[in-house]
Amino acid sequence: MKIDLHTHSTHSDGREDVHTIFDSAQAAGVDVLALTDHDSTAGWAEAASVARELGMGFVPGIEVTTMAQGLNKPFSVHLLAYLPDPNNAELQSVLRKTVVAREQRLRDITALVANGWPITWDDVLAQLREGATMGRPAVADALIAAGHFANRGEVFDQVLYDGSEYYVSNESAPDVLSAIELILNAGGVPIIAHPLGRSAGGHALPEAHFRVMIEAGLAGFEVYHRDVPEFARKWLLGLAKEFDLVVTGSSDYHGLTGKDNRLGENLTAPEMLERIAALGFSEVIYP
Ligand code: AMP
Ligand code: ZN
Ligand code: FE
Ligand code: FE
Repeated sequence: MKIDLHTHSTHSDGREDVHTIFDSAQAAGVDVLALTDHDSTAGWAEAASVARELGMGFVPGIEVTTMAQGLNKPFSVHLLAYLPDPNNAELQSVLRKTVVAREQRLRDITALVANGWPITWDDVLAQLREGATMGRPAVADALIAAGHFANRGEVFDQVLYDGSEYYVSNESAPDVLSAIELILNAGGVPIIAHPLGRSAGGHALPEAHFRVMIEAGLAGFEVYHRDVPEFARKWLLGLAKEFDLVVTGSSDYHGLTGKDNRLGENLTAPEMLERIAALGFSEVIYP
């Protein structure tokens, strides 16, 4: 069974709608797919119905934007939440706050980018589906649409990388430790996305903080992801063994033209999905 536990649709910053992603996953031989849009559960219902229609598996998830505070400097941490109760009021309220703050943050980024390239907020909005969680890729898409760059990768490398003069962080996002508690209280399974990934701008969250997150109830790490460096995989696997944690693998697909990541390029072991299913509040749909 091929299981890919991290994808994005047009409900956040992916370039394909839910149906297209499931069709492509099936064509790629993937049997079970998680949808993990940023700070949103908006695609879950459609994903469940499409999965049933196609005879595929579906794992509802969210990629929650968080910040790790209390260290030398704040770090951006993406926290995957699998199978939480989507009707948990506290969870939805925190997600809502992040989604609202993301709009002002993207307006600020757009204003900075407009100093270098003539784009407007309307150009950015034109790249977003109604209600989609806003992120830097929409600014990248606006720059591409205006003919200034060829693809998102180029824009991220040259303009929107973490730490550039055009970058603004999601600084009002919840602290990662409180987000772990929030997800657990909502019946979800918290797993760090692409730990020490390159997209974090080389911000190497200290290993010691992983022990603090484990203490707070972290369930595991997404070890098998193209952005996770080899050295980190080694000690993450060591920590997973020491604390008997879940280890996952995923593509982090954003559509054919969104990122190079391809559906099924990294996979999660069936026994790990079983552990997530046993821990989570919501049901996994099996193929
Ligand atoms: P934001 O949510 O605004 O911080 O943007 C982060 C998102 O940008 C990630 O989740 C990816 O979807 C996307 N991203 C980061 N680096 C790249 C890249 N090099 N090429 C395409 N998309 C990227
Ligand atoms: Zn994304
Ligand atoms: Fe991420
Ligand atoms: Fe992601």
